[in-house]
Amino acid sequence: MSEKCQRCGEVGQNMRTLHLSCLYDLMELGIPFDIVYLQSVGIAVKHRIYTLRVCKGCRAEWLQSVKQWFNTPRADNLDSNGIVTRPVSEYGVEDDIT
Ligand SMILES: [Zn+2]
Repeated sequence: MSEKCQRCGEVGQNMRTLHLSCLYDLMELGIPFDIVYLQSVGIAVKHRIYTLRVCKGCRAEWLQSVKQWFNTPRADNLDSNGIVTRPVSEYGVEDDIT
C-alpha cells in the first residue's frame, strides 16, 4: 500500500513513523502531526504521542537535525527552565522569547 510522506509529499511504500512526546503541545509548531494516545496498564492518564509518517529521506534529515540540536550548546540567554534571562537581538532589533 502506497502512502504519502507528510513532510515532502513523496508517495511510496517505504514510510516510517516518527514518534515525539515531551509534555508540550507540539501542535504549536504548525506541523501536521497525528496524535495517538498510549495508556499503560494500571495508569489512569493517557500519554499523548505526536506522530508523522515520513519517507526514509525525511527521516534521515530529522535524525540529522536532532543530532545537530543535541550537539549545539544551549542558547546562553535561556536558563534550564527555558526562561529568557536577557532579550535576543536579531539584526539589531531586540525581541523577548517566552
Ligand atoms: Zn519525505
